[in-house]
Amino acid sequence: MEYDERLAHFRQTRLNPFDRGEEDYDPQDGKPAPEQEPRAELSGTGSSDRTMDLGLAEDHFSRPMGSCVDSDIEKLKLAIEECKKLILELPEHSEKQKDTVVKLIHLRLKLQELKDPEEDEPNLRILLEHRFSKEKSKSVKQTCDKCSAIIWGLIQTWYTCTGCYYRCHSKCLNLINKPCVRSKVSHQSEYELSICPEIGLDRQDYRCSECRTPVSLRGVPSEARQCDYTGQYYCTTCHWNDTAIIPARVIHNWEFEPRKVCRSSLRYLALMMPRPVLKLKEINPLLFNFVEELVEIRKLRQDILLMKPYFITCKEAMEARLLLQLQDRQHFVENDDMYSLQDLIDISSGRLSCSLTEIHTTFAKHIKLDCEKCQAKGFVCELCKEGDILFPFDSHTSVCQDCSAVFHRDCYYDNSTTCPKCTRMTGRQQDEPFDIQTR
Ligand SMILES: [Zn+2]
Ligand SMILES: [Zn+2]
Ligand SMILES: [Zn+2]
Ligand SMILES: [Zn+2]
Ligand SMILES: [Zn+2]
Ligand SMILES: [Zn+2]
Repeated sequence: MEYDERLAHFRQTRLNPFDRGEEDYDPQDGKPAPEQEPRAELSGTGSSDRTMDLGLAEDHFSRPMGSCVDSDIEKLKLAIEECKKLILELPEHSEKQKDTVVKLIHLRLKLQELKDPEEDEPNLRILLEHRFSKEKSKSVKQTCDKCSAIIWGLIQTWYTCTGCYYRCHSKCLNLINKPCVRSKVSHQSEYELSICPEIGLDRQDYRCSECRTPVSLRGVPSEARQCDYTGQYYCTTCHWNDTAIIPARVIHNWEFEPRKVCRSSLRYLALMMPRPVLKLKEINPLLFNFVEELVEIRKLRQDILLMKPYFITCKEAMEARLLLQLQDRQHFVENDDMYSLQDLIDISSGRLSCSLTEIHTTFAKHIKLDCEKCQAKGFVCELCKEGDILFPFDSHTSVCQDCSAVFHRDCYYDNSTTCPKCTRMTGRQQDEPFDIQTR
């Protein structure tokens, strides 16, 4: 076709092959020429030679999956830009220019077609325990967890699961076969604590552990990628070479190097990150022998637990919401031995020590300096009956395990056999023979 040849030539040389007319051109006047067969082009079945000229020879619309949609959109946008330039450069009101306007309309319609058919899709959809909520953001460029293609927020509708942050095109929603990881987090709230527990590709039947696609290490028929968390092999759709810090490596090796994990491990680990599920002193007590920071954090946490009774009985402290300073690590107010993976990461980076020392100082300042009511709940060492008021979290004190009385550490060690308060209480109980059970 002559037109197409000249257009192709134009594209190669970036020169205007046509003469320029004198009249002003109003694009509204450009009517589609009947021989253009616009519908045939849209359906993707005919006029393939006509689409050639704008780099649109491929059929973009008969593919069932969205895997090529992103490159199609790129090409379409490019072609539209080229078309616009061409219209300006062509002679006004010329047949060629009218043809190009028609072409522009077609290209825009094609771009429109990539939009999802339904604009009024539901805001919330529940599938396989996912709670998909329709996304409003237009500008963010995300990747679809189902088809691995880019989500064009500007023209495509997409959803994110509010539970596990799985995101996908609305057109991919019905193809999803992976259940929500959030439910796994609630049912299976314990980490795999063996380092990369591989079972071998043969035991996996040379198939992706998740979707059962055939895989092998030679990449035939599809590449097998290992997940360092589960130790198993996955296909490239289920494993995108994302990296994450592996809890087992932290616990056993105090090693924080991120390793490659599959998509579902990535989501699971991200959701588990702030949950205090690691009882270090049971899983690996040796860690406290060689990680000094852990010992420091343990002491700070023990102190904070000793301060807590002051705060929950002090109106002023409650009003100042002092304990809320630990709201991101609620477990620090509840116990001193459970850790989240996030805690361990922050301990290793030194961040936790900084922030916890700061909180410790604020708390101690309230009890010992700022608040009269809390000050009044201090202790006088009953062994020497001398010196300042003592608090159980002071570093130079010892606390009786039985009655919680506080003494100077030196005094208590000197008299390590008896606590005067406990002696007093036992004495009282012997006077009251019917009350022996209570202690
Ligand atoms: Zn998709
Ligand atoms: Zn989900
Ligand atoms: Zn797979
Ligand atoms: Zn107080
Ligand atoms: Zn003393
Ligand atoms: Zn005692």
